[in-house]
Amino acid sequence: MKVEFYRHSLGAAEKAAVADVIDSLFLTTGPRAREFERLFAAYLHVPYCIGLSSCTAGLHLALKAWGIGPGDRVIVPAMTFVASANVVLHAGADVVFCDVDARTGLIDPTAVEGALGSGGVKALIPVHIYGQMADMTTLRLLADRHGLRLLEDSAHCVEGERDGARPGSLGDAAVFSFYATKNLACGEGGAVVTRSRELTDYLEVARLHGMSKSALSRHEHYEHWDMDFPGYKANLPDIQAALLLPQLARLDDMWRRREAIAGRYAAAFAAAGVEFPTDVPGARHARHLFTIWAPDGRRDEFIASLQVDGIGVVVNYRPVHLTRHYRERYGCREGQFPNAEAIGRRTISLPFYPLLTDQEIEYVIERVCSIHHDLLRHA
Ligand SMILES: *Cc1c(COP(=O)(O)O)cnc(C)c1O
Repeated sequence: MKVEFYRHSLGAAEKAAVADVIDSLFLTTGPRAREFERLFAAYLHVPYCIGLSSCTAGLHLALKAWGIGPGDRVIVPAMTFVASANVVLHAGADVVFCDVDARTGLIDPTAVEGALGSGGVKALIPVHIYGQMADMTTLRLLADRHGLRLLEDSAHCVEGERDGARPGSLGDAAVFSFYATKNLACGEGGAVVTRSRELTDYLEVARLHGMSKSALSRHEHYEHWDMDFPGYKANLPDIQAALLLPQLARLDDMWRRREAIAGRYAAAFAAAGVEFPTDVPGARHARHLFTIWAPDGRRDEFIASLQVDGIGVVVNYRPVHLTRHYRERYGCREGQFPNAEAIGRRTISLPFYPLLTDQEIEYVIERVCSIHHDLLRHA
């Protein structure tokens, strides 16, 4: 049997939506992008949403909007995708890594307090890793006490909720990815949601060269435009927005299917002694990724066996501070962030998406438990 690591759920509705765009006037940012922004903000109960070309662009532009640059520092968990840290460098600031909770992989507020000791910290980027929300209530208090901007990397978390807060409710901004494998996917795309009118105004201009008028407004009624500052090119085109709109209506159904798959994985793995991250009690997990922890030192053998069995897997993630750039530029080394490093050594992401069949789920469970058992027996 062959089980792909990921298969998207786009179908007839998305094909029809893209065909409508092709039959219309606007290929770039226009009425569909606006409609998506309106509906996504409403979904999250946040006043503003700005569609962008990627999550990376959203994180970068939010830092720029807040004037974060050379001489400033930004705290980022060591266990995340490289983009969460790289955007700090794009803004000209320095990254301060901090460790994560050993059981959830989420940024550890106590480690954040430790990282603040280095001084000059202007912002904090919690990552809602795998779809589970960071402890935003505690982080908000910390951010307020130290005058920090709180920028949620919500690339994994559209549907999550914790302590009554959803992405964008407590952060100064939450940034989403609509990259090919994310819960809401259009190939490439992203969005920022925020309660700040000021940030919204900046992003609307910054995403399109700094021009004072968008293509849509120029089409509606031509007026000369000016350029307020040299902006970027990071808008969400209507073709991508058209792919996202039908998925919004299916978001809860797709989430329920992943929730059911997670329940089956969790029950089977717990019974077989296969370890995996803990769910925060009482919170709603967005269920973006399902990861397991291989026996320490055996992860790559575990992956090799799964691949021989036809099961697609990836690693989310090896810790960012141990990538070559951060080792060389910041002198980062092993031993600095033991929890992020332990997860990075052991983690494997399994196939986890609504189109997985019951037969595929059973096959993945059977192979994972059997490989785990064999690796321990030959320890
Ligand atoms: C996917 C991802 C990003 C980057 O998203 P893009 O839309 O590809 O820029 C950032 N952070 C995390 C945690 C991600 O998983």
